[in-house]
Amino acid sequence: MAPELAHEEILAWLRCDDPQLLERLWELADRERTHRVGDCVHLRGLVEISNHCERSCTYCGISTANAALGRYRMSRDEIMACARQAVLFGYGTIVLQAGEDPGLETQWVADLVGDIKGATGLAVTLSLGERSPDELALWRASGADRYLLRFETSDRELFRRIHPPPKDRNACDRIALLRTIKALGYETGSGIMVGIPGQTFESIARDLALFRELDLDMIGIGPWIAHPASPLCREGAPDADADQVPATEQMACIVVALARLVCPEANIPSTTALATINSLHGRAHGLTRGANVCMPNLTPPQYRCLYEIYPNKAGSSSTPEQSHRSVLATLAALGRPAGQGPGSRSA
Ligand code: SF4
Repeated sequence: MAPELAHEEILAWLRCDDPQLLERLWELADRERTHRVGDCVHLRGLVEISNHCERSCTYCGISTANAALGRYRMSRDEIMACARQAVLFGYGTIVLQAGEDPGLETQWVADLVGDIKGATGLAVTLSLGERSPDELALWRASGADRYLLRFETSDRELFRRIHPPPKDRNACDRIALLRTIKALGYETGSGIMVGIPGQTFESIARDLALFRELDLDMIGIGPWIAHPASPLCREGAPDADADQVPATEQMACIVVALARLVCPEANIPSTTALATINSLHGRAHGLTRGANVCMPNLTPPQYRCLYEIYPNKAGSSSTPEQSHRSVLATLAALGRPAGQGPGSRSA
């Protein structure tokens, strides 16, 4: 492991707003990325298989509270077509993402994973929310390679506020669940939002320490982007507070860069949220400030416009071909090759 950055050093970077100093941070992170995981950018085809969700997270545009949203659940055949498209595009991984949807039945998902593995050989990443250890074990046995579950913030009180448990369930301990996921043999991914109202610099420093403690294989970081239909947006911006982390592209990039320095061998995506908050340069900034993964969206256009966790999501009206070409254009401009194969952390 890399030598640990001191807590005070991390805090100083998190509070830094000096462009020249930040150039130094971008260089450090980019150099570490080159040295530890190379120049290849791994492409993961993202398929948003259902926008049903039984949760009511206060920041999210597809929460159950958004009664105005049309809902969809993709069929097995539609998802298989996306998987074949991923192969044609040369990707090594497909990511199946959804809200917390009990309609995605355990055995149906297991069969789907087995079918994708059998037909395409793609690595399969699941991002289906808080699921029971038995379900997770079955999916792993069916061939799922990776599981993504963001803890969003290590501040438990803040997490409870933005991510309230369903009325009939106790709050899930996501950190404990991430340990279970890892013990089941998944490559394990998590991550945070940056700039949640009430989030402090100390809190982000603890998030970074937790990334390292959990020895995460994948770390996703994006700025909080207010969705107008979400309660957190309606509450408005928090009172000006010196400790409030800003929800800006720069702040999210600082956290990406620090994540690279703290967890040098992790796969770190340049997230769609970064590409949304800065539509011209967000993706490239992520890739030159520590990230080494992109997740082009393969969701059919008629569905992706309904998977609006936050507004004006980058590529929400694009076709899979347009998303693919857009990512390749970014890589070409940066002189970075697309990775081959599954792009596992250990590969
Ligand atoms: S953040 Fe995830 S779990 Fe929460 S409401 Fe949105 S889709 Fe559902």
